[in-house]
Amino acid sequence: MKVYNSLSRREEPFAPERGGEVRMYTCGPTVYNFAHIGNFRAYVFEDVLRRTLEFNGWKVKQVQNLTDVDDKTIRGANAAGVPLQEYTKPYKEAFFADLKTLNVEPAEVYPAATDHIPEMIELVRRLVDAGVAYRSDDGSVYFSVVKFPGYGKLAHIDFENQRTGARCAADEYDKENVGDFALWKAWEESDGPVGWDSPWGRGRPGWHIECSAMSMKYLGETFDLHTGGIDNLFPHHENEIAQAEAATGKPFVRTWMHCAHLRVNGEKMSKSAGNFFTLRDLLEKGWTGREIRYVLAGAHYRQGLNFAFSALEDARKSLARVDTCVAALEARAAGAAPGAAPEFAASALEAFSAAVNDDLNTPRAYAALFNLVRSANAAMETLRPQDAAAALAAFARMDSVLGFVQSGKSAAGGGEAVPPGVAALLEERARARAEKNWAESDRLRDAIAAAGWAVKDSKTGQAVSKIRPQG
Ligand SMILES: [Zn+2]
Repeated sequence: MKVYNSLSRREEPFAPERGGEVRMYTCGPTVYNFAHIGNFRAYVFEDVLRRTLEFNGWKVKQVQNLTDVDDKTIRGANAAGVPLQEYTKPYKEAFFADLKTLNVEPAEVYPAATDHIPEMIELVRRLVDAGVAYRSDDGSVYFSVVKFPGYGKLAHIDFENQRTGARCAADEYDKENVGDFALWKAWEESDGPVGWDSPWGRGRPGWHIECSAMSMKYLGETFDLHTGGIDNLFPHHENEIAQAEAATGKPFVRTWMHCAHLRVNGEKMSKSAGNFFTLRDLLEKGWTGREIRYVLAGAHYRQGLNFAFSALEDARKSLARVDTCVAALEARAAGAAPGAAPEFAASALEAFSAAVNDDLNTPRAYAALFNLVRSANAAMETLRPQDAAAALAAFARMDSVLGFVQSGKSAAGGGEAVPPGVAALLEERARARAEKNWAESDRLRDAIAAAGWAVKDSKTGQAVSKIRPQG
């Protein structure tokens, strides 16, 4: 697999550092409102990445943070006159519901910043002890960027024209305003009831420190992948590197990946321009999570994505073509176990695999999917049941990355069609049995049963039937 590393600014081969497990950190939402479709573009990109890693046979340990204390959440809670936790709770819940709507696989850990204040205080203390951070007169603690020689290596900042010694208290600022940034912010009146005690007095963490502290807690001091939207690259990710590496003396992250911006109808999304959409806005207009996912995943992640309603209409038509083909294959397969993949299915799957492993080239992966649709449609009348089942297994394999192919809706010959996921398991089990790997065969039988299908072995192969609920 090859991916573009924002740190080296090159495409590089990727493999996890430790055996078969990829350790990956993803910047999550600030839970002060509903996430918009620009945010979801990044989360869908990260999901396609995660699924591609799994497609390649690696296990993934993904950590995605929930920023539930920062300038914005505090402002919102105090304006609403409710405790911070109460204010952020519905937005946390909405975030998880939206991920489900978009069929995003859950991360292994979703740490909330407010549950990790001691870890952040500890990291700030290490930085103060190392002499790269200092307490200012008001009780805040700042990171001194001149004390960390690597500062600017991710964003490629030219320090020639920078002023030094300035401080920036805000969480977000631009490259023209590089200065010492806040690790710990002293309590002030506008914080209201929000605050924690620390060795430097009452206050709260800066935004950037949470990701360094929580990523290293769950993934170790050096880990494989860190992802986010391109707007996170500076200052957030630059500061994460500075905080982590100045404390540990080790490289923080091996590969950084960033997703480009999303525009709506060719313009920057903004409430004033009337082109600002949350996922909920689009669902209310009658679009489905599946259609929205199709559009969000369809552009290459490093290219700007122009989101337009015409793209959703195209998605609906394209998905209908996939559905029609899958239903016809299911009718044709009539519950048969997959045989060897017909040439057209094998070559489509090979093209698909090459595309996703080439820096997640989803436009080419979509092309491979539609080649499979076209070839299957052309061959449909002559397909034997085991060929049709093998073609379904190829769809299932692609869908393990894409996450929008649907199946199992049609009924053939009175029996329910075998969904592609179950067909793929059956194919694996047939292979295990051919290799006389009985333990694996039994494991797959249980997996198939868990998916609601019973499998029986006979001289002619495996036969499956839907398990009917009792009563
Ligand atoms: Zn972050």
